[in-house]
Amino acid sequence: MRKVMLAGALALVASLTARSAVVPHPQAEAQALDLAERAIALRSVRGPGNKTPEVAALFKSALVAGGFADADVTVTPLDDTAYLIARWPGRDPKLKPLVISGHMDVVEARPADWVRDPFTPVVEGGYLYGRGSTDMKLDGALAIASLIELKREGYKPRRDVVIEFSGDEETVMKTSAVIAEKLANADLVLNIDGGGGTLNEATGAPEHFTWQGAEKTYADFELTVTNPGGHSSAPRAVNAIDELAAALLRIRDHQFTPELSDLTRAYFVEAAKYEDAEIGAAMRAFAVDPTDKQAIATLTANPGTVGKIGTTCVVTMIGGGHALNALPQRASANINCRIFPGHAPADIMAELARVANDPGIRFADVTQGSVRTDASPLRPDFVAAVQKALAGPYPGVPIFPAMSSGASDSMWYRHFGAPSYGASPVFMRSDDFSHGLNERTPIATIAPAIDYFLTLVPELSK
Ligand SMILES: [Zn+2]
Repeated sequence: MRKVMLAGALALVASLTARSAVVPHPQAEAQALDLAERAIALRSVRGPGNKTPEVAALFKSALVAGGFADADVTVTPLDDTAYLIARWPGRDPKLKPLVISGHMDVVEARPADWVRDPFTPVVEGGYLYGRGSTDMKLDGALAIASLIELKREGYKPRRDVVIEFSGDEETVMKTSAVIAEKLANADLVLNIDGGGGTLNEATGAPEHFTWQGAEKTYADFELTVTNPGGHSSAPRAVNAIDELAAALLRIRDHQFTPELSDLTRAYFVEAAKYEDAEIGAAMRAFAVDPTDKQAIATLTANPGTVGKIGTTCVVTMIGGGHALNALPQRASANINCRIFPGHAPADIMAELARVANDPGIRFADVTQGSVRTDASPLRPDFVAAVQKALAGPYPGVPIFPAMSSGASDSMWYRHFGAPSYGASPVFMRSDDFSHGLNERTPIATIAPAIDYFLTLVPELSK
């Protein structure tokens, strides 16, 4: 009851803050907050005591109580976790399904470091606090409550609507890979753990919304130099550590050719409006001419944009030598790369080897848990659906695509050939603290988020 009244109050607050177009769905709003709180209370962290299977059971019971057939909601255990796949059969079984993708696990949180207990959900001062409030138990609960509301209202999708939750997205992504392979025939994957809206830092007014259509490919390359070594009292001309260090400096000074895609061009043009004058001007210039040297220099020097204009590689770990008084027999380093969509990791490693220019250095791809992920196409039907879904709750808000530095479950879908788009309906300031301390999400985002899903899901499944 308290929840229902709270939701009513939320709708009132929303109507007073220029979001008069939000259609209230009090039952779904109350259920979303309740389900998110119950899920946050379950410590779904990888390792001993992992309660992800209990989150799966909670979500399943909500879906079945909301009208999903028991047999259409499967929870599958895997290692210490589990994943959930629920299918709402459409009227035309020949059509490929719409897949809504999320995850149930959260990043570890040490209660001693938090102001509030991370696994005790609290609503205070307009925020839902707790580990997973932002990433992404509220998002998951919003999607579940919205599907149940659609059923309640009698909506019948033309294509199957599948909602799935992986159980180890934040760590090894084993369930993520399994699910994406099973659902690789998706017409479209709506990843509710990516993209989203930004509120103005000062006023709290909705500022813009980005949807994520690409992620960079993550890769780790190990460089190793070996040497016969010897006594340190009798140095030789070639030393394994010197040799590796010289190659690392050549790699440091190398810039991969800056690149622009349709997606990043659209991003730079729109995002430039929210940057300071110098960065904004460089973004606009780069969008017109990706060989513009001055723009490249400005965007390269800025940590917020260097990753958006091309592949980056940087040394992250180094090891070598075996005794204080011996010439090193071995030196090795890890180069971490974030590869611009469209390139194979092997080609990037070959470019690094050319730059290192030393046949004595062995290169090996030691990447774990990551696969090549190319950009999803800019689908006009998806963009139109998002525009329509946001027009009600957030009229006039600018919408543009973005590329993230990765990696979400979209990586696996794109790897298996299914187009995947991050488009969470949650709007917030930059104070979400996801993965960090005191994670929180404004509850004013709940009513417009339900409204968004109630337009978006039918648009993508009609
Ligand atoms: Zn996440």
